[in-house]
Amino acid sequence: MTDIRKGKVIVISAPSGCGKSTIINAVRELPGMDLQFSVSATNRDPRPGETDGVSYYFLTDDEFRRRIDAGDFVEYCEVYPGRFYGTLKSEVERTRDDGHDVILDIDVVGGVNVKEMFGDDALSIFIMPPSVDELRRRLESRGTDSEERIAERVGRAEYEIGFAPMYDRVVVNDDLSVAVEETSRVIADFTGRSL
Ligand code: ADP
Ligand code: 5GP
Repeated sequence: MTDIRKGKVIVISAPSGCGKSTIINAVRELPGMDLQFSVSATNRDPRPGETDGVSYYFLTDDEFRRRIDAGDFVEYCEVYPGRFYGTLKSEVERTRDDGHDVILDIDVVGGVNVKEMFGDDALSIFIMPPSVDELRRRLESRGTDSEERIAERVGRAEYEIGFAPMYDRVVVNDDLSVAVEETSRVIADFTGRSL
């Protein structure tokens, strides 16, 4: 039997609206990358266009609590009041055991925790917006959140940016193609995959 190389863990965090999902999707599509997305669980409602089991596992409050009690999460966090998000052990371990690298889109508290847990097997990247004003503009033009939710997300951005020095790498998402190039190069260097 041949040994399968255990996959690496890539953690990406950024203030909401910074372009994290756009960058992750672009990087995953590059030939040579072998990054499987870890689908998190959440008790928030799906946005238009989001599919259960693809964007998130959308759980009720009770289901989310049951998964916490069952010890199913690597980490979980109440990112916004009453809204929980968690990384499932099953998602991360199955992917790594199959030899694929796994990419996690998680908040700053989860990001710092996962890096600490996985140590040298993990690379943490913080995606930085050019400015908080630009972040607000991107959330407005994405058009998926109410005014109240946008204000909440922008309000949290400065707190999140304070965590950037704890990440292995910081990538500024000003010009999207430059940010995708830089993120993919940093990941390829870490995983040893060639682009
Ligand atoms: P996040 O996943 O961080 O919440 P998204 O990837 O959904 O953010 O991006 C938020 C919005 O900003 C989207 O409409 C996206 O197309 C846009 N966007 C992403 N990167 C850039 C960029 N570098 N310049 C301008 N708009 C961007
Ligand atoms: P959104 O509601 O925009 O999809 O996500 C809100 C925030 O929750 C983002 O910062 C996202 O990275 C974070 N998030 C998503 N999944 C997880 C998770 O499993 N754990 C943690 N800690 N944060 C998560």
